[in-house]
Amino acid sequence: MSPALPLKQTDRLGLSDIRKGGVNAYQIILKKRSGKILTKNEIDFLVSGYTKAEIPDYQFSAFLMAVYFQGMSFDETTALTDTMMRSGKVFNLSKIPGKKIDKHSTGGVGDKVSLILAPLARACGVVVPMVSGQGLGHTGGTLDKLESIPGFRTNLTEAEFKSQLKKIGVAMMGQTKELAPADKKIYALRDVTATVDSIPLISASIMSKKLAEGIDGLVLDVKTGSGAFMREFKDSKQLARIMIEIGKRMGKKMVALITNMDEPLGNMVGNSLEVIESIECLKGKGPQDLMQLTIALVEEMLLMNNRCKKQEARSKIEHALKSGAALEKFRAIIKAQGGDVRVIDNYRLLPQPKHILQVKSSRDGYIQKIDALSIGLLSVELGCGRRTIDDKIDYSAGFIFKKKVGGKIEKGEVLVEVVGQDQNKVKVVSQKILNAYQISKEKTRRPKLIIQRL
Ligand code: URA
Repeated sequence: MSPALPLKQTDRLGLSDIRKGGVNAYQIILKKRSGKILTKNEIDFLVSGYTKAEIPDYQFSAFLMAVYFQGMSFDETTALTDTMMRSGKVFNLSKIPGKKIDKHSTGGVGDKVSLILAPLARACGVVVPMVSGQGLGHTGGTLDKLESIPGFRTNLTEAEFKSQLKKIGVAMMGQTKELAPADKKIYALRDVTATVDSIPLISASIMSKKLAEGIDGLVLDVKTGSGAFMREFKDSKQLARIMIEIGKRMGKKMVALITNMDEPLGNMVGNSLEVIESIECLKGKGPQDLMQLTIALVEEMLLMNNRCKKQEARSKIEHALKSGAALEKFRAIIKAQGGDVRVIDNYRLLPQPKHILQVKSSRDGYIQKIDALSIGLLSVELGCGRRTIDDKIDYSAGFIFKKKVGGKIEKGEVLVEVVGQDQNKVKVVSQKILNAYQISKEKTRRPKLIIQRL
């Protein structure tokens, strides 16, 4: 118990407001710190005050830390989501015919699913209004990948977003200043106050943005494992459950797949490399794990959209890939957003690395592990992501994995290629990357990719 304070100090802390029945930041922080449940008014007061810069960073940081340790009830998390969603515009897409369905991943390494899923789902008849983010920490961001396509604009206005949705039924943009601005400000503070990996804070952050898009339904890809924000399965499941409940309470159709993020997804990590791998998938030549996950998520979008049977959804997806319809939709997205469509047939038009180093295995055996977190951190070191908001990205940089977990490898065989513009970074990262690997004599199975559907 803290000692009783002299009257003057208690007044500075705003206790006189409390006696008068008012709310203030100190009182709310104290209440949360003591593990009590906050009212919607209290949450509104704090979040809107912080968004308008009436409450300082130091008080909001203390509040975030109190939430980190004390958690939030479901009602509190829903109230937080609602307040953050209403901190800006909520798009009204009701004039665009058809159900509007999006997908959101909680963040991973090599996760380029959105680039394949958006055109594929559209080619199967779903309207896809997708608002994506930049890379966060060790995880890559859809916007950075798309921006490696020369000319591609992700900074669409609301009017452009709507007009593109009307014309081609799919648009991929970044979070604007108007869309959930509270999340943008709070996320930046969480990033520097060690309060990112909190289930209620992640739930409210993701759902506030997604609900502001004006969607009818959302398919969540909740990652679990070393490269995920939630490493433990039980935490990922709880995160999925809470986001599903928040969405349902707001009248949205919701499904989540909990998927493995112990090793990078697909065979490539890095912005333009991931664009190439996505185009290869749309040409029907993608790696097995990436295709499996993308198809499973698109299938959920189709089930939500059409109420069709699983088998019917599956054959629509196969047809969209085989006929080239999905690839044509990607071409249409690039064209509509000002990008150079020739990249689809000529990968040399994407940013090219100047340096390539091959990293070879020092022993025979089977790959037991390629640690996703280590690869994600090394990708940032190589220049694929930002350490600070002003960092310049090397769009050409990244990794090309020649073997994945379960693969047999011989001494001297190439495990991975490290590429980029900066010779020194390519060299330093190549020297470190073997630490992410575990190779031993025992045969090992590939881990299950789609762990649970909720
Ligand atoms: N992605 C988000 O948008 N917010 C979080 O808090 C974590 C991942």
